[in-house]
Amino acid sequence: MTPKEFDAHHLWHPYSSVSDPAPMHRVARADGVTLTLADGAQMIDGMASWWSAIHGYGQPSMVKAVQDQAAKMSHVMFGGLTHDPAIELGRRLLDITPAPLQRIFYVDSGSVAVEVAMKMAAQYQQAVGRAGKHQFVTPRGGYHGDTWKAMSVCDPVTGMHHIFKGALSIQHFAPRPPIAMGQDWTDDDAQNGLGALRAILAENHATIAGMVIEPVVQGAGGMYFYHPRYLDGARALCDEFDVVLIFDEIATGFGRTGKMFATDHCEITPDILCMGKAITGGMMSFAATMTTDKIANGIGSAEPGVFMHGPTFMGNPLACAAAAASLDLLGTTPWRARVGAIETQMRAELEPLRALDGVADVRVLGAIGVVEMDHFVSSAQAHPISKQLGVWLRPFGHNIYCMPPYVTSGDELSKITHAMGEMARVL
Ligand code: PMP
Repeated sequence: MTPKEFDAHHLWHPYSSVSDPAPMHRVARADGVTLTLADGAQMIDGMASWWSAIHGYGQPSMVKAVQDQAAKMSHVMFGGLTHDPAIELGRRLLDITPAPLQRIFYVDSGSVAVEVAMKMAAQYQQAVGRAGKHQFVTPRGGYHGDTWKAMSVCDPVTGMHHIFKGALSIQHFAPRPPIAMGQDWTDDDAQNGLGALRAILAENHATIAGMVIEPVVQGAGGMYFYHPRYLDGARALCDEFDVVLIFDEIATGFGRTGKMFATDHCEITPDILCMGKAITGGMMSFAATMTTDKIANGIGSAEPGVFMHGPTFMGNPLACAAAAASLDLLGTTPWRARVGAIETQMRAELEPLRALDGVADVRVLGAIGVVEMDHFVSSAQAHPISKQLGVWLRPFGHNIYCMPPYVTSGDELSKITHAMGEMARVL
């Protein structure tokens, strides 16, 4: 069997069938913003490896940080032991996150960060004497991961609810925040979505532990950008009804929307913030869930007195070293200016695509560019076009989109937007 045949016969890929394998490019190297395939062909990576490789690939300081750490200690258990990479990363995270978030729980992936956040909210509510609060409210159109509890707060239509009906926890779904980013905000709660959220909380607050929401950008649920003022209103409602507010910044964190965190677009802060993806600059899987002293001490105040979670690879030193090196790069490179330049160029180059047949909307925020079609776009059909044009893009649902590394040059970005236009014409 050739390597490609072996892959097709034996390896499961994300959201794929082994009986009818999807087309696959075999990547041999990744340098800068370029993926080199086994046959020597090259593609500019418009996806930044599912939005994580913000500095591109093979950044010397990050490679060195991981190599140095691997030579010293690649892993030790975090139960009863601690280490400098975890402490150093913690210091850096406190520097860049909202001041009330003082407690950090390291985990292995974004989905697990969401699981931990939901568990924290439920355990907190139980600890402070509100044992009936164990469900969650979330807006439609969200995506929070593929594990059971995270999946239960994904959009019930575009998520996997219909397949796993009966197996997922029942949650409460509010309408998607109706006012888009850039539209005028109105304080009329019937129009801004907060009236509907209030109605759900008023009726069900006795059973609702937390609200889970992606701030400003709904990512894998539809690439939709909504008005940050919705979050200010949601915060007030959560306070009124004793509901823990959880921001899932796994897609938006570390500069993607033009601010360090999407939370920085609004006035308020969440009780719990999940981060992942770009935390290690795409070097390896890692994530973190941060919370306030109030939630952490609340959990500690009642039986069993400890937070009941502790994965084997918690606080992995290699991942902590990669994350610290990535944050150092954010601290020393002009990422805001770069993301701003990407935003300006994408607006100029994508906006004209609105005129094409089949294009329903064009949206840009920070280093996120979206061409929404009025029909489903096949990622399998996009696959050969990527190779032909030398730009890696993987559309989903109705969206042809890019989230390039921040180090993408103007010329490289033009190739990405050109490929998005070609896909919009052909698919
Ligand atoms: N939350 C959001 C907002 C995400 O975009 C994702 C991944 N696309 C996740 C959670 C899950 O993260 P992971 O794939 O690392 O489990």
